[in-house]
Amino acid sequence: METIPVKDLLPIPELTAARRLLVVQPHPDDAEVGAGATIAKLARDGAAIACLTVTDGRLGTEDPAVDPAELVRIRRREGEESARILGVAETYWLDFPDGGIMDPAQVRARITRVLRQFKPDALMVNDPWLPYEAHPDHRAVGLAALEACLFSGFPHYCPEQLKEEGLAPHKVDQVALYLSAYPNTYVDVTATWDLKLEALRRHQSQFNPGMLELLSFYLAAKAREQAQGRGFEMAEAFKVLTPTHLHCFEEAWRV
Ligand SMILES: [Zn+2]
Repeated sequence: METIPVKDLLPIPELTAARRLLVVQPHPDDAEVGAGATIAKLARDGAAIACLTVTDGRLGTEDPAVDPAELVRIRRREGEESARILGVAETYWLDFPDGGIMDPAQVRARITRVLRQFKPDALMVNDPWLPYEAHPDHRAVGLAALEACLFSGFPHYCPEQLKEEGLAPHKVDQVALYLSAYPNTYVDVTATWDLKLEALRRHQSQFNPGMLELLSFYLAAKAREQAQGRGFEMAEAFKVLTPTHLHCFEEAWRV
């Protein structure tokens, strides 16, 4: 009998086959930076896409004259405009305070509610295991979203969502981690690269023209490098796994 390496026992799903995608981001603009061109590609190919932003983005300025409450309003507007450009049909805003204290169980439950409402077959979120990631919101949100993917199918997890809100347990088929140091999936985003840049331009409160130019240059260089040898020009990279990989599966880091 042919021996199959343990790491190959559980196949990696095809991200571009996702028909309903929930994109989760810690702050308005993270998903555009990490996955904007892939989101636009999936939307263009007919997938239904929702974007859930966990924090309100109130810390996103170095200017003491900026009013945080006003910044929250500006960033919401920028996020809605950016979502429209990428073809995101629905947006959810959880409004946890940017950089504040987040109760992990509460964040997990709130993301679970959206999973049960929108019923995606794929969830996309930033990789919480990115080495050297110092931002607590990124670590917390990445983990909470993946925890939600483990629990959202259990009828006895947050049962009030089922009894009082009429929702049903729902489980995703795959998770796709953007901003990952261990990618296993490279999406050809050559045709939608300009939409990613157009979406990033909407986040004027975050990127002045000089910063935007620098960011665009860096992202394009990275996309070309990630596409090298694959027969296309620009790629966005993801770590794609199934929820099964996310618990007691020691090979997950190397599949
Ligand atoms: Zn962020």
